[in-house]
Order: sequence, then structure tokens, then C-alpha cells
Amino acid sequence: MLYDVIIIGAGPAGLFCGCHLDPNLDSIILERNSRPGIKLLMTGGGQCNVTHDGSIKDFLIHFGDKGKEVRQILYKYSNDALLEYFEKRHVKMIKREDGKVFPQSLQAKDVLNTLVENCQENQVQLQYNRVVDKVVYEENHRVFKVYSRDQHYLAKNLVVATGGCSYPTTGSDGRFFEALKSLNVKINSTKPGLVPVFIEGYAYEHLSGTSFEKAKIEVYRHDKKIAENTGDVLFTHKSLSGPGILDLSRNIERGDILVVNYFNKKSKEEAIQELKKHLINSKLEFNTLIRDYFELSKRFVDTIFTLCHIDSHKKTSQVSNKELMEVANKIMSDPLRVKDMGGFETAMVTSGGVSLNQLNLKRLSSAENEHLYFAGEVLDVDGDTGGYNLQFAFSSGVFCARSINQETGNNEK
Ligand SMILES: Cc1cc2nc3c(=O)[nH]c(=O)nc-3n(C[C@H](O)[C@H](O)[C@H](O)COP(=O)(O)OP(=O)(O)OC[C@H]3O[C@@H](n4cnc5c(N)ncnc54)[C@H](O)[C@@H]3O)c2cc1C
Repeated sequence: MLYDVIIIGAGPAGLFCGCHLDPNLDSIILERNSRPGIKLLMTGGGQCNVTHDGSIKDFLIHFGDKGKEVRQILYKYSNDALLEYFEKRHVKMIKREDGKVFPQSLQAKDVLNTLVENCQENQVQLQYNRVVDKVVYEENHRVFKVYSRDQHYLAKNLVVATGGCSYPTTGSDGRFFEALKSLNVKINSTKPGLVPVFIEGYAYEHLSGTSFEKAKIEVYRHDKKIAENTGDVLFTHKSLSGPGILDLSRNIERGDILVVNYFNKKSKEEAIQELKKHLINSKLEFNTLIRDYFELSKRFVDTIFTLCHIDSHKKTSQVSNKELMEVANKIMSDPLRVKDMGGFETAMVTSGGVSLNQLNLKRLSSAENEHLYFAGEVLDVDGDTGGYNLQFAFSSGVFCARSINQETGNNEK
């Protein structure tokens, strides 16, 4: 059978593309796993942070240097359009104070089920356990021959929505990039994105789960500051994580020095001046003063005192300026050398992938072969944490569907 459209990959990008194809087209999604959307079910800790609140214009800076290039894709199917889509399908969404948007049920499966049902309503077939390992374009007949082990499928249009390389056990392991090379598709080298950072002599292992709101993180390479970010920082068993670190990770390399300010509310000078006054007037123990002033947990402050080799039970009247400076420095500019970056098994996204340079971005298809489309993380586009990556997967999926509908003279339902 000759299909109008084959979509490879039943992740959010592939499924959402299927949801927006004209139902009169003969369409099929081929998925290697025995079920769809395995990674989607893991998003937002299983709660699925579908998108971010606010103007879609504000999304662009969250895609690094790719923001400008993907502008039209996001503008043509914005966060508001996505919310309207789910509202219409009775999946209520909630906006958190930090701007992240989740289904009210806090269940990623509600999002996934909606997409799968909508594909079925749209007459899009879904076939599982179909790993696509090779694709050939037959110029003479203008068809794609899509191979899955001993079977092959024919299609006039092909949408590649195979994801990147992160969390390879979910099915997106990057192997399909090799197959794409035979179609003359240029792949920019891939590396893990949104990853935790491993620190030399990590001293916060026992504080796993401790987080700091709106901490400031600066990145130094060869004594020069090369990047900074403000965001939540989380100590895990083995690494530094949290949105503030993950979003900055694309700028960090092994050997860099991170300088973390866990109390980013005042300048260090101001804090030290105020603390000096407290030292004179207070009858507290030094550690209690520090805990109260910086609003930090006892366990963290105890660790700071241990690292600074200072007796935490000292009366404030006995604390020297040097000791005060040492403790304040550790809390407001903690220097941490990067031992390593998280790999694909811990990366929330993939940096790199199908190069945007060789695409016709007005259609999201290859400039060489206008029937070959790409959607989602397979593209060399990666966003910050906060719902930006799923929004891109959804927006690019719709974009491909609309290009195909237009090309074939059909309309989406
Ligand atoms: C732990 C975790 C949490 C995350 N949380 C969030 C979040 O809360 N919000 C957010 O915006 N983003 C989040 N992300 C990122 C988000 O999940 C991805 O950006 C998104 O899933 C990309 O969608 P996609 O459809 O392009 O690719 P994928 O979701 O990776 O789907 C690709 C599909 O293609 C299939 N496939 C691959 N190769 C083949 C082949 N050869 N043949 C057939 N099928 C194939 C795969 O099995 C998979 O089902 C998170 C990522 C991780 C890992």
C-alpha cells in the first residue's frame, strides 16, 4: 500500500503531527516501542510540564541561538493554541506561579491518551514494534521506501519524529541519525543537553534534595566569566542539578569553575556589613546567626562550617572578620570545579541533530526533498527547562502536518 504520509516515531511531535493531518490522507505512525510516548510519560516527573505561560515572543530566548530560526514555528502554533487544544478536549490545564503549565490531574498519561485518541479519530494508523532502520527515496516514483526489519512501507511524504539521543532506553537513542545520512540529511554533532554537573570533591552528597531558590551561578573558564544564570539549584546524591544548572549546562565544560551564590538577595558587601553589626549586638551562636540571616537549613550551615574548619558553636562576639568572610564567601560565592557533565542517560534533551541550515523552514522539510519533513527533538533545536521543549515538539508537529495538508490540498480537521 502507498501511504500519503508515514510518520516515524510516536512521541509528542509525531503524535501531534498525526492529530493535525487531514483525515482523508492515508497516514500511519511507525513506532519502535510496544507503546507510544514512553518519554512523554516521564516528563515533569510524570506530571508533564506541557508548556510555559506568557507571551510566545518570550519563548525565543529560551532556545539559545536557535530562537530566531524557530520563531515562525512557535508563533504559528503558540502556547495559547496548545492550551486551547487541550481545553477543547477536556484536559484542564493549570499554570503554576513559576509559569510552568501542567494538566490539572498532574498525570502525563492524560496528555498522551488525548494525543493517541485524536490520532485514531483522525484515521491515523498506529503500528508498534516497528523499528525503522533504513529509508530510501525512489526518485523515479517519488516515493519513500521505509524499511522495518523484513517489511517495507511506501509513502509520498515522510515525517521524521524520532527524537534525539537522551534517555536512550525510552526509544530515542540517536541511531536513526545514521539512517538519515543516506538521505543526504546533514546532522550537526549531538551532545547531551540539560544535564546535571559533577563537581570535583563534591561535599554535598549528604544534603541530597536540598534546593536553593533563585541562586546565581557564574561559569568561569581560564579565569574569565563566560556565562551566568539565575535559577533554582538542587543538590543530588552525586551532582548539582535544578533548572538553574540544567539551563546553563549547554555553556559548561569539564574543568570550568562554577561560582554559586546560594543567597542571591543582597550583594556580598551589604550582607557582610549587616552581619558585622549583628556580630556586635547578637548573643547567638555563630551558626544560628548565619542560619537566620541567610535563611538556610541547619544541615547546610553545619556543612559550611565544617568545610571552613570553623567552630559553629562559637559566640558571635568571638568571631573574627576573617572567619565571617570565609563563611559568607562559601555561601555567596562557592567555587566548584566541574569534574564532568551528565551523559545522554541523564540528559533531558539533545543538543545538535538535523541541521536547520539545509531545511526550508517555511515548510519544515528538506530543501533538497520537499516531501521529507522533520518535527521535534530530532531537529537541532533544544530549549530550556520549563515546558519549552514539549511546546517545540507540538508546534513543529503541527507545522509539518499543515505543510503536508497544504501541499496535498487537504485541510486539518
Ligand atoms: C526525564 C525527562 C523529563 C522531561 N520533562 C520535560 C518537561 O516536563 N517539559 C518539557 O517541555 N520537556 C521535557 N522533556 C523533554 C521532552 O520529553 C522532549 O523534548 C520531547 O519528548 C521530544 O519529543 P519528540 O516527539 O521529538 O521525541 P521523543 O519523545 O523522543 O519521541 C521519539 C519517538 O520516536 C521513536 N523512535 C526513535 N527511533 C525510531 C525508529 N528508528 N523507528 C521507529 N520509532 C523510533 C521513539 O521510540 C520515541 O517514541 C523531558 C525529557 C526527559 C528525558
